[in-house]
Parts: sequence; structure tokens; C-alpha cells
Amino acid sequence: MSRSPDIPNAHAERRHAMVEHQLRRRGIQSQAVLEAMGTVPRHLFVPATAQHTAYDDSPLHIGQGQTISQPYMVARMTELLNVEAGSHVLEVGTGSGYQAAILAEIGAEVWTIERLPELAAMATSILRQLGYHKVHVVVGDGTLGLPEQAPYDGILVTAAAPSIPPSLTSQLGVGGRIVIPVGDRDIQELRVVKRTASGLTETSVLDCRFVPLIGAEGYKDT
Ligand code: SAM
Repeated sequence: MSRSPDIPNAHAERRHAMVEHQLRRRGIQSQAVLEAMGTVPRHLFVPATAQHTAYDDSPLHIGQGQTISQPYMVARMTELLNVEAGSHVLEVGTGSGYQAAILAEIGAEVWTIERLPELAAMATSILRQLGYHKVHVVVGDGTLGLPEQAPYDGILVTAAAPSIPPSLTSQLGVGGRIVIPVGDRDIQELRVVKRTASGLTETSVLDCRFVPLIGAEGYKDT
């Protein structure tokens, strides 16, 4: 019997291969992160014309000059954030909504801020369709955080900052972490800031490349 191509299965197979080849073999160890990346349908967060490349080992354009990050980078940042079910998380840079869905899949309640209303609207729509009701999308300048929901167990910034925004460190709870790319517009280092009872510590993890964080405590223009 002839059969039309089974697109949903093709996506599931690509997603499985992505988890094995791009994540597990490169050292992602958190079972929660691997399971979330194996569950969330990344192809639904990219433009229809790019769905066949959604599980490739690269970032992709999502419109408005912005990108969805490479799968490995999403996994690594999520692992570094060290969130668990019930964590209270702020994401700066909603973009497609994919990273927020990964955090929600792990069980976190997520407030995610996007400065571009068109992207925020698209992300809200797909997150609702997929039932991620614990993701709250807000339009605004994420460099200022979202003080009304602070303190956070984790703050994940998915755009490149010239320096760590003081508003974000002030909204981080004790025991919490910020994961943020810091550097110039061409190249950055991914940093992890931890708040302990005695203050803040900062470590640099790897080189990376993100679109700029534009705002009052970020870059001043596009
Ligand atoms: N996390 C996203 C995802 O899963 O698709 C990818 C984010 S993309 C690399 C960076 C996003 O940060 C862009 O959508 C950009 O518009 C947004 N952005 C830049 N500056 C911002 C700011 N000050 N506040 C909120 N969003 C910002």
C-alpha cells in the first residue's frame, strides 16, 4: 500500500536524533533537560518554510531579524540554570517561545519578556496551542527584569548584554542563578552568576554568539 510521507514521525525522528547526537554525545547530562528537548516540538516554533531544518545543529531565523538558538545552546543554558519542577523563572528574550517551553516542560513557572510585540504574539499563540499555561509572555524591556514577580530561582537571558544588568541581579533570589551571554556585538562569553547568602559569584563557561540585548541596561540601539 502506498503511503504519504509521515511528517509528524519524521519530526519525531529528527528530534530524537538531535537529542542523541547534538546533546547527549556533547555532554548534556541532565535527564530533565534531555527529556524536555526530546518532547517539545521545536518545528512548531519556527516559520513553516524552515520546519524541515528545525532540528539542525544551528540557530534559525524567526523573523524581525531575530533567531531561535541552536538546540545545543538551549540545552546547555537550561542545564546551567539548574531549574526543577516548581522553580520560578524569568526569561529575557522570548523570541519564538521555544526556550520558555523547554523550561515549562521541566516544570518551571516562567515569566518571559520580549521587546518586539509581533514575536511575543506569535510565541503566545503557539505556547497556548501546545498547552504551556505556566508560561506568561510579557512585552517590554527585559533588561529591567520583572520586579513584580521577583525574586527568581533562575534568570535566563537569551540575547547578548554589554554587561550584567543590575536590575536582574537585584531580582535574583538566594540560591538562584543568572545565565547570560556578555560581551561585544560579535562575540560573547556565556556567564553564570550565582547568589549565595554571602553575595554574588560569577563564572565564564564558553564563547557564544547572540543577537544584542537592546534596552535601558543593555545596548542602546539596534
Ligand atoms: N529564547 C528565544 C527562543 O527560544 O526562540 C531566542 C531569543 S533571540 C536569540 C533574542 C530575543 O531577545 C529576540 O527575540 C529579541 O527581540 C529579544 N530582546 C532583545 N533585547 C530585549 C530586551 N531588552 N527585552 C526583551 N527582549 C529582548
